[in-house]
Amino acid sequence: MRRKTKQIFVGNVGIGGDSSISIQTMANSSTEDIGKTINQIREAEEAGCDLIRVSCPTRESTVALREIVKNVRMPIIADIHFNYKRAIEAIDAGACCIRINPGNVDMFAINEIVKAAKYNNVAIRIGVNSGSIEKDILDKYGEPTVEAIVESAVLNCKKLEDLDFVNFKISVKSSDVKTTISAYRQLSSKVNYPLHLGVTEAGTFFPGAIKSAIGIGSLLADGIGDTIRVSLSSNIVDEIKVGKQILKSLSLLKNSVDIISCPTCSRTLIDVIGIAKELEAFCESIKKSLKISVLGCVVNGIGEAMNSDIGIFGFKKGIAKIYVNGAEYCTVREYEVLNTVKELIQNQ
Ligand code: SF4
Repeated sequence: MRRKTKQIFVGNVGIGGDSSISIQTMANSSTEDIGKTINQIREAEEAGCDLIRVSCPTRESTVALREIVKNVRMPIIADIHFNYKRAIEAIDAGACCIRINPGNVDMFAINEIVKAAKYNNVAIRIGVNSGSIEKDILDKYGEPTVEAIVESAVLNCKKLEDLDFVNFKISVKSSDVKTTISAYRQLSSKVNYPLHLGVTEAGTFFPGAIKSAIGIGSLLADGIGDTIRVSLSSNIVDEIKVGKQILKSLSLLKNSVDIISCPTCSRTLIDVIGIAKELEAFCESIKKSLKISVLGCVVNGIGEAMNSDIGIFGFKKGIAKIYVNGAEYCTVREYEVLNTVKELIQNQ
């Protein structure tokens, strides 16, 4: 069961409480390049992203942010390190949330950011990262252990609470999957603020997707987590696709099509791999909650078809049976499967 946290809002996107688990990514264009950043944000939205973060390292970037905000619908989170003035400028430019890294800002800066956030009803993310923990905490533990990460997070929650500010979420990311899982588990037993999940610097597409699925997926399966970001050295659309698949795998993504398909073997009677891949591409933009099964033969085919909204399985060589809502619908030749099923999806 999902652990219920305090609900906050980043723009119109609820995080925590009863809100569905949102997907975030981060633009990797230069924020000063307004056109490119707007295109990236629109592309992310098209792919199913709910929130996007942009870096604001310079005065020019926060000036550009004002134009970017005017031209996109998705709420923007400004990523701030070192100079608190960028946070104040970003809030003024229309950012809906400010990500601060406690290791990179002092108390004076936090105070100034909180004042501006309160005045403008803007949320904050306390983004603790194993690579940039405060020096005194790191000195105490010697290395970025789970305890060090969690201590930093709890300490920074307290700093914001002392400023009478609770409109925030927290992340405790590590590039090590086991450390990430343990840190979030410990933190979730100590605080009730919404948690932003992610395995930081997870790597390139294939290893990064697997590390993220294990890290984020284990926590979500425990009921921990309110918003997720998959961090890949890859295209940002890949991050969103992986994030969506993680949520889908745990039945946490509404209005999405889940396709199950068998690994194929010598009994396979139809082109399972080709059919499954084509349906996957076709269903990318379908906003319906559907389960579709594609199996090579009757061994598991009938059972899975009966438990799917649309079930396809090899019946004879080159011939498939299609089930709809658990009942036999038709028998078709292999080459007719895709058109028949696409029509069924559209009519469901
Ligand atoms: S469902 Fe049939 S074809 Fe697919 S792996 Fe199982 S036995 Fe093989």
